[in-house]
Amino acid sequence: MDYADFHRRSLTERDAFWSEQAQLVDWHTPPTQICDYSNPPFAKWFVGGTTNLCHNAVDRHLATRPDQAALIFVSTETGIERTYSFRELHAEVQRMAATLLGLGVKQGDRVLIYMPMIPEAAFAMLACARIGAIHSVVFGGFASVSLASRIDDAEPTVIVSADAGSRGGKVVAYKPLLDEAIKLAVHKPAKVLMVDRGLSPFDRVEGRDEDYATWRDGQADTVVPCAWLDSTHPSYTLYTSGTTGKPKGVQRDTGGYAVALAASMKYIYLGNAGETYFSTSDIGWVVGHSYIVYGPLIAGMATIMYEGLPIRPDAAIWWSLVEKYKVTSMFSAPTAVRVLKKQDPAALKKHDLSSLRALFLAGEPLDEPTAQWISDALGRPIIDNYWQTETGWPILSLCNGVEKAVSKFGSPGKAVYGYDVKLIDEGTGEELKGANQKGVVVIEGPLPPGCMQTVWRDDERFVKTYWTRVRGKVVDGVQQPDRHLYSTFDWGVRDADGYYFILGRTDDVINVAGHRLGTREIEESLSSHASVAEVAVVGVADQLKGQVAMAFVVLKDASRAATPEGALALEGELMKVVDNQLGAVARPSRVRFISALPKTRSGKMLRRVIQAICEGRDPGDLSTVEDPTAVQQIRELFAAR
Ligand code: AMP
Repeated sequence: MDYADFHRRSLTERDAFWSEQAQLVDWHTPPTQICDYSNPPFAKWFVGGTTNLCHNAVDRHLATRPDQAALIFVSTETGIERTYSFRELHAEVQRMAATLLGLGVKQGDRVLIYMPMIPEAAFAMLACARIGAIHSVVFGGFASVSLASRIDDAEPTVIVSADAGSRGGKVVAYKPLLDEAIKLAVHKPAKVLMVDRGLSPFDRVEGRDEDYATWRDGQADTVVPCAWLDSTHPSYTLYTSGTTGKPKGVQRDTGGYAVALAASMKYIYLGNAGETYFSTSDIGWVVGHSYIVYGPLIAGMATIMYEGLPIRPDAAIWWSLVEKYKVTSMFSAPTAVRVLKKQDPAALKKHDLSSLRALFLAGEPLDEPTAQWISDALGRPIIDNYWQTETGWPILSLCNGVEKAVSKFGSPGKAVYGYDVKLIDEGTGEELKGANQKGVVVIEGPLPPGCMQTVWRDDERFVKTYWTRVRGKVVDGVQQPDRHLYSTFDWGVRDADGYYFILGRTDDVINVAGHRLGTREIEESLSSHASVAEVAVVGVADQLKGQVAMAFVVLKDASRAATPEGALALEGELMKVVDNQLGAVARPSRVRFISALPKTRSGKMLRRVIQAICEGRDPGDLSTVEDPTAVQQIRELFAAR
């Protein structure tokens, strides 16, 4: 099929197009309206329909493939490797669901999941979906302050957690961080359900902490039916960073998400029932939600859940799994490829990768040399795809399941069906229709199914943060309706063939090794240190991680960093603050001390000036900088490197 037609039809015959895609999932009651966009920019998909994500991911496969692998758990950290068939997964999810119900969780309640990459994390997500509870997974790499702010926003009835994770053979205790977070949070969960892996002994809080093994044992053959939920019932919230310090709870629906994922498995990820999918992400991120847990299972595929590093025991580990489990589609991030690039390339040639249809990469810009390197090393197609936590599935990609297309390295491809992607001029707001013009990547509403419904409990923030209203023009005497544009906060260009190139964020969000972080959150954390008067954090280009955070601090008492030893000690102290509050993922790569930060006369911090100097670029017009010595100091710090 011609992809341009397919894409056009998804926009011009929107309801007919998505009504066909809706056939890819089971409905208890079919929808009566495909898209309700009567209250823009809020879109309601598959209105009147009732369905269940867990039913579509698990139960519906029992009739045709009960003994086929569903969840393949591989931990190179603990040496555990175990496959759950759809039948076994069904039983485990029901035990978890019965436990959550037993702990008092009701439909619409939130369950916060703070867990390492273990099967129980997936059971907990699916169990929530089964009973209509809203899960909120918090990445295990976040520490107590990050976790506490998410607890307060989600107000969970129950938190599901584990004693510890493990990274590179080192046990990372979760329970003390969780206890501290609950102490910091205003909202207190009624219960904490603990999975004890036996990795790290922990204290139990009497009356609050429950042992999952005990609950599970009491539920041997338990039956918990799927709750039939309105298509628009929220399935989960997932927090993501923006320009303010307070993370946003991206809220996703049920029916639209199921349809969007089912369609993406077919048209983008080339996955068929009975095959194996391997995504190396983490359940704490959106890729883990969409393409470790729900997407592959909805498609009737086995999904590999991997706990461990890409290079341990050696750089061949992932490829050995591809061979062993005959993986057909694999999904990873450019950072992981850059890590592999430093290893012996022979590791990638050791295994038979003939089952692999493609390696999909997303989460951060995929530079051309990295794409070329992995393409040469694997000899398999490499497909970059661009999307966000907010959208839940790709905005830009190649839809090889519709029509075969050539990859252009450096580009994540074309606008995906359902997305009316445009580039607009930042200054005038006018659409840039010509080729090779740089603009802000926006999507004209309604967003397709599966994208965020709103910001959890904050419709106003959703509208204010993401949407611009464009007054409708009068055409031939007829007033056209207003249009609503969703901003991705990314710069982009489009070439004459319709391929987009993403050029970085327009806001203060940075992307470290595929992890999205808000510089404001890091600044707030550093500011909590008694010695800090002022701080600016910027993202600086890095060969391995894409970007790293770099902090510039003005001290209350400059004498503390007057000697190199003093500065080094204080730098370590400040890094520790971030480690303890936000987690090591957010730790700046350097903390430098200066006497003033570059600001305009009105006090606006010129982060882009700092960033440009750190990256050795021309910072542009400096006439607006109030105190030129600030710029001079940063220049000197970088010249001295
Ligand atoms: P997240 O919400 O964590 O998935 O981060 C989304 C952001 O990551 C996007 O807004 C982009 O800035 C960046 N991003 C994700 N995928 C890509 C890609 N394939 N190419 C370039 N940037 C990407």
